[in-house]
Amino acid sequence: MKITKNFCQSVSLSIPKKVQCNICGWEGRHFLSDSWHNHTNCPKCRSGIRQRLFIIALQNIEELSFGKIITDRKLLHFAPEEIITSVIREKSAQYVTADYFRQDCDLKVDMSYMPQIENEQFYTVIAFDVLEHVPDYQKALEEVHRVLCSKGIAIFTVPQKDNLEKTYEDSSIVSLEDRTKHFGQCDHLRIFGDDFSRIVESKGFSVTAVNESDFSEDIVNKHVLFPPTLSRHPLATNYRKVFFCRKTS
Ligand SMILES: [Zn+2]
Repeated sequence: MKITKNFCQSVSLSIPKKVQCNICGWEGRHFLSDSWHNHTNCPKCRSGIRQRLFIIALQNIEELSFGKIITDRKLLHFAPEEIITSVIREKSAQYVTADYFRQDCDLKVDMSYMPQIENEQFYTVIAFDVLEHVPDYQKALEEVHRVLCSKGIAIFTVPQKDNLEKTYEDSSIVSLEDRTKHFGQCDHLRIFGDDFSRIVESKGFSVTAVNESDFSEDIVNKHVLFPPTLSRHPLATNYRKVFFCRKTS
């Protein structure tokens, strides 16, 4: 059979669009792959599972909704991703960006030492995949606690090795090659384990970890809130969580 252009067009049109980005609205057959996972990154806005989990929690979980933690709140966002900024900036009362290296942020700060920020200045602090870069991340958690107002909320994501019980760090591992080998990336100083929630709680927070199990299977598959295929990389974070950490003391 001679395949005509029209036939090809009709075939492509009849293929169902299986996935949709819940942040930018892109639809298609599958997301893009990276060196860690197949088909998990939005080709339009570059969102990954952690960003889409965060936004869908704001859209669907009442106590973590836009109205409760973003709208008309004072926000501090570390290492801000443009796609998240574009969604939350306009809703907030005040939106401040911060980074240790980048020049395009409002504040240049070391997350573990922020004397330029007075106590209890922000209701919401966001830091996605930042703590693995900070030499003293426990001090950073204490600093975030200090700058949060009473009952404020910090939202973290961290790379966590699957089924690793205890966070692994070793300050004697300094070469870029060894850090990649042990922690998964040349600028990572540790890889977190299942004890992350407990460590954050020890700093005066109550932690709610949101993952794909908080949403229906249809929603998980449509927005790819879990890897379509598990990564076999020994340091991969297959089981992503977004940690909503409420200041309790
Ligand atoms: Zn997108």
